[in-house]
Amino acid sequence: MTQTDFDLFVIGGGSGGVRAARIAAGYGAKVGLAECDRIGGTCVIRGCVPKKLLVYASRFGDLFEDARGFGWARAPAMFDWAQLIANTDREIHRLEGIYERNLEAKGVRTFKTRARLDGPSAVKLADGERVAAGTILIATGGRPSRYGDIPGAAHIVTSDEIFALAALPKRIVVCGGGYIAVEFASIFAGLGVETTLIHRRDKVLRGFDEDLRDGLMEAMAARGIRLMMNESLVGVAQDVGCFRVALHSGGKIETDLVLSAIGREPATADLGLETAGVRTGARGEIIVDSFSGTTAKGIYAVGDVTDRANLTPVAIREGHAFADTVFGRKPTQVDHSLIPTAVFTTPELATVGLSEAAAQALGHDVDIYKSRFRSLRDMLSGREERMLMKLVVDRATDRVLGCHVFGVDAAEIVQMAAVALQLGARKADFDATVALHPSAAEELVTMREVWAPAPA
Ligand code: FAD
Ligand code: NDP
Repeated sequence: MTQTDFDLFVIGGGSGGVRAARIAAGYGAKVGLAECDRIGGTCVIRGCVPKKLLVYASRFGDLFEDARGFGWARAPAMFDWAQLIANTDREIHRLEGIYERNLEAKGVRTFKTRARLDGPSAVKLADGERVAAGTILIATGGRPSRYGDIPGAAHIVTSDEIFALAALPKRIVVCGGGYIAVEFASIFAGLGVETTLIHRRDKVLRGFDEDLRDGLMEAMAARGIRLMMNESLVGVAQDVGCFRVALHSGGKIETDLVLSAIGREPATADLGLETAGVRTGARGEIIVDSFSGTTAKGIYAVGDVTDRANLTPVAIREGHAFADTVFGRKPTQVDHSLIPTAVFTTPELATVGLSEAAAQALGHDVDIYKSRFRSLRDMLSGREERMLMKLVVDRATDRVLGCHVFGVDAAEIVQMAAVALQLGARKADFDATVALHPSAAEELVTMREVWAPAPA
């Protein structure tokens, strides 16, 4: 057993861990990092990036169809899943290399192995090596929740396996109603797969503004996705060349693939937390203070493993703030209050700030501004879908509390609206902003009609 000393040892080479390691090393710290899989973590290897590439792929069918309205004759289009996955893999490999080189350039020593705590100031690597460190950062992320002991659970895949499918299925059943379920239902439907979404509630995307939830469900149904709400899966049986999914209601569905997207849980199993006194909460998440400090002195945690807001830019900010605080003498807390987020369905939706219901629940007297319209582009494409723009405004102060967009480029639009909300923009500031014409986003600065808020 060898002994190596580091100022900082990071467990986990994903979004949060890599950022923290690089920034701390930049402050002169001697940094080690252990990653048991591939550098880049969930976002780069099996999350945001490959997912978004699949989203792009799934939207070409629309473009081919829409082009006819603009005078283009449609050539027969062929789709090749193997080609898409090969190209996606190449891009992931490229990004992984950039992450690795960035760590190397900062002098971070990387260990391609699993690590666990071994007391309050040491880490044990899978090969038995013990590493001593002044500070330890846990950035091990999360993993997909799986159906426990339902019959046939082993036949169900998660987002971890989906990017390695050998062939595109003809039919898929997706379980869940959160980000991953609706995004992948949308991706597969866009690629021509007969898609069924099973969700235990009456609507998808709990917590999002009701208008966005309704708009998405309407659009998914119109695009041929079979939505089975208030339903759940109770078993999966393998048959000749297919699976039979048994439903709680008693029905059965024949399919070629079952994808579960029923949430993710913090990756805290077998981390040796008990050896150092690091406490976890009810979901297994590491409990941290506003500087990402755990209950053990000198041990910090950032990203999904803390289950605060499980998004890449948040993990990155938390990692950066930790390094500034501990190694840069700049105590920095991350503000989790105004985090923009998008769901990359087709059409997509994005949001920043409070939903109408959340604002009301917090006691705000709200004015609601909404615009639902067909975009200029769709006047020629013939597509019937409507975009939605919505502002939730505090009546007393005129502050814009929430901005919600459903439709093409919602993510791009809301990223910019988030700047305005971050600056504390009032509705009067939106009104005073000159429209950019012709655009869809101009609706955000031209809405004048006040809608009655939904009954609380
Ligand atoms: P991770 O990126 O998960 O990194 C943790 C790393 O730790 C992993 O590489 C893991 O292998 C390693 N590790 C775990 N245990 C050990 C150990 N004991 N020893 C050594 N290494 C270990 N977020 C967005 O903002 N936008 C999106 O569009 C988006 N899309 C997503 C799509 C999918 C399918 C999924 C699953 C997630 C998506 N997310 C998205 C969420 C985003 O990926 C995560 O919030 C982000 O990756 C969290 O970063 P992290 O550093 O906390 O953890
Ligand atoms: P989510 O937490 O978003 O959604 C989980 C869904 O599964 C919910 O609809 C939930 O229903 C349902 N569910 C939970 N437990 C069960 C169960 N036992 N049986 C049936 N249904 C169940 O998780 P995801 O897996 O979709 O994604 C994980 C996280 O990753 C997201 O929350 C997000 O933070 C991040 N992510 C971000 C993306 C983005 O930024 N675009 C894309 C993908 C992931 P209920 O509402 O009833 O609880």
